[in-house]
Amino acid sequence: AAKQAGGACLARFDETLRAEQNERARIAAGLRQALADGSLFLHYQPVVDPMTGRMTGAEALMRWRHDGELIPPVVFIPVAEQTGLIGQLGVLALREACARAAGWYRRDGVYVTVNVSTYQLRDPDFADTVLGILAETGMPPAGLVLEITESVLIDAADTPVLGRLREHGVRIAIDDFGTGYSSLAYLHELPVDILKIDRSFISRHQDPPSPREISFTRAILDLAHSRDLVTVAEGVETEAQARLLRELRCDLVQGYHFGRPAAPEVIENLLRESSATAA
Ligand code: C2E
Ligand code: MG
Ligand code: MG
Ligand code: MG
Repeated sequence: AAKQAGGACLARFDETLRAEQNERARIAAGLRQALADGSLFLHYQPVVDPMTGRMTGAEALMRWRHDGELIPPVVFIPVAEQTGLIGQLGVLALREACARAAGWYRRDGVYVTVNVSTYQLRDPDFADTVLGILAETGMPPAGLVLEITESVLIDAADTPVLGRLREHGVRIAIDDFGTGYSSLAYLHELPVDILKIDRSFISRHQDPPSPREISFTRAILDLAHSRDLVTVAEGVETEAQARLLRELRCDLVQGYHFGRPAAPEVIENLLRESSATAA
């Protein structure tokens, strides 16, 4: 009976596996088409100075409209990585973000920040690709930030790619800091300019936050500042969280409390409004 149950279990496992493979193949086929037909596009989320409320940057986040549905990046980015499509998808994101935001940076000093996958960093031509896109779109290197997930950065630190881009003035951010295992010990070795604290550390904060939560966040911020890194808190959803981050001198904040990811026209309206107020 046990053997039978095991067999049934294996059969079900096979079935699940096959279903997953089919789903992956379906997404990959859709992505290939999307790369050609413009159904992949970017939304932008404001990165804000919590003291003044002013937008300092905007994070480009990929969106995919497929059969009338908006597929989230957590679904299609992993498939793009597994199938090698991430290279093309990454170029699309960089080109579109730089083309769109070159004017934001020139007029308002607002930089654009683009997520980069580990697979892109393994490409020895990656630095040239980025520099080519900057030249082609007229984006000054200082207007571009590349976000690399913490766990990946440990290997990337060994590649000359990031160093070369930094020499040109492109800045590098550690994304989702606190979710990997490297954490604080490695911070001084990484070739980065900006540290983004993962939202799991921010939205976990109770209202009011516990002394432990406060001291933990403070420790990360102090360490980052001792290295002259710019700190960004992700996933700020409430005024209480914003207040705490101001008190702890976090440089920049990002989250639904300050603005959701939105179409580029929305960002451009915000920029027009704020330059109208400033004038
Ligand atoms: P990420 O780089 O950490 O981006 C931040 C994510 O948090 C975004 O999810 C954003 O919509 C979400 N978020 C922002 N504020 C809040 C908040 O206050 N509360 C909550 N609950 N969430 C918030 P999104 O757009 O679904 O993207 C998920 C991930 O997909 C990104 O995480 C990024 O790693 C990846 N991704 C997105 N676009 C690209 C891309 O062009 N290339 C690559 N390689 N990865 C991308
Ligand atoms: Mg990011
Ligand atoms: Mg990311
Ligand atoms: Mg993040």
